[in-house]
Amino acid sequence: MDDVGIAPETGWNAQYIDGEWRQQGERATISVNAPATQETVGEVPRGTTDDLNEAFRVAEAAQAEWAETPPQERSRIVSTAAQLLEEHMEEFVHLVAIEGGGVQAKGEFEGGAAVGVASHAAGMALRNRGERSESTVPGKENIVVEEPVGVVGVITPWNFPTVLSMRAVAPALALGNGVVLKPDEHTPVTGGLLLARVFEMAGLPDGVLNVVTGYGEDIGDHFSGHEVPDVISFTGSTEIGRRVATNAVENFNFPALELGGNNAHIVTDDADLELAIEAGAFGSFTHQGQVCISINRHLVHEDVYDDYVAGLAEAAEHIPVGDPLEPESIVGPIINESQFEEMTDYLEETVDAGAVVEAGGDYDFPYVEPTVLSDVRNEMAAACNEHFGPIAPVIPFSSDEEAIELANDTEMGLSGSVHCRDITRARAIAKQVETGMIHINDQPINDDPQAPFGGVKSSGMGRYNDRWIADEYTTTRWISVQHEPREY
Ligand code: NAD
Repeated sequence: MDDVGIAPETGWNAQYIDGEWRQQGERATISVNAPATQETVGEVPRGTTDDLNEAFRVAEAAQAEWAETPPQERSRIVSTAAQLLEEHMEEFVHLVAIEGGGVQAKGEFEGGAAVGVASHAAGMALRNRGERSESTVPGKENIVVEEPVGVVGVITPWNFPTVLSMRAVAPALALGNGVVLKPDEHTPVTGGLLLARVFEMAGLPDGVLNVVTGYGEDIGDHFSGHEVPDVISFTGSTEIGRRVATNAVENFNFPALELGGNNAHIVTDDADLELAIEAGAFGSFTHQGQVCISINRHLVHEDVYDDYVAGLAEAAEHIPVGDPLEPESIVGPIINESQFEEMTDYLEETVDAGAVVEAGGDYDFPYVEPTVLSDVRNEMAAACNEHFGPIAPVIPFSSDEEAIELANDTEMGLSGSVHCRDITRARAIAKQVETGMIHINDQPINDDPQAPFGGVKSSGMGRYNDRWIADEYTTTRWISVQHEPREY
């Protein structure tokens, strides 16, 4: 990966602290293994709690001046970072394939989304968010100001590492905060060091953004409970999210959490079946199903069930599986052996419980064939768990009420979709599905910089994008001015 043109002079085996690429020194390293070949393609320092302490201290020190930097300048730097990523898109797509096992279409999709979210964030710096109001006290003026919170700590996962890091980092910087980012150990480059590099090239002052590469188990608790950050922005599993939130709250760090999903794709009897199937295949098989907002369950009306299953199976059979560096591959490798084991165990358990394999069903590490399962019930393993694989369990229902009940029968509440020609009916269903996001006549994989992204129930707290994240990354203060002597 070091031969990719955008790499810093040190290569990627470095952390980015205080504007310096600090090489591994005495530290151990983390091997970066290509999911497709299992070969080691790079190494990064195994960051320590001392590294984190320094990164937070540096971010805190640099933030004060950054917050005073004119908003036009902050906006320009964030916008330039977005442009630089766009200019290096080909290299980026290559890195996504090697480090994360993402096929070309995934790399392009993710790169475009990261550029989009950073470009949108650049505008946040320019928005005037202050207010003035009258007072009940004679002669008093109330001023409401929105200030950056200070330092934002960001922890992200491996599945869409660049866009998930960028959507947390770019708004934080645009709004005048300092940032410490810890990317996932599987994707330290595309999830962290690459962002440091484009912001460095864009002219971000030293210390404002710092990237510490490390294992969650080594430094995660120290990170989330650290005294410096004011917000901990965490994207990852519900299990770790709960732990992060507990640590954060103990130190009065505000937890912003984007966690797991178990998203339902509801197809009614009047749906345009062809479109519902096309959307269903995209929603289940994109990036091998390793997406928090992918379709975990297809809920299909009994009158169209057989046709839907046949159409989805046909679509699944035609999806090319293979090396992410081959342009024709659509489904690539699974990120690692433990994810592979987990999803194939769910698959086996579901088949043992009576589900029928309609397409795929075979697997050979690191690849799992796009698989369609019929006769599935909500309580079966591949349906009630977030399987995170290219697996499409299809569950029948007989009424809208039953579809809603099935969709809500999970502790998760992230995204979902409803395919239905009657928009009034679709909206009535969408209204009753308990999720933070739901998409009519589409599938659940959507992220739009203008729209709020986040979940309810065990899928998280808080929202990404636009004014929703701006609220989380700023502190609202009331400053009053007594213009005339006050009578007490
Ligand atoms: P994970 O929770 O294991 O890891 C995510 C991050 O947390 C990594 O950077 C990891 O190093 C770090 N971490 C591990 N232990 C930690 C600790 N004790 N303290 C602090 N950080 C720690 O998640 P994963 O399995 O890598 O990712 C998949 C999960 O992420 C799925 O559940 C998926 O749904 C979820 N996800 C959610 C969203 C969303 O926006 N809601 C997006 C992508 C992924």
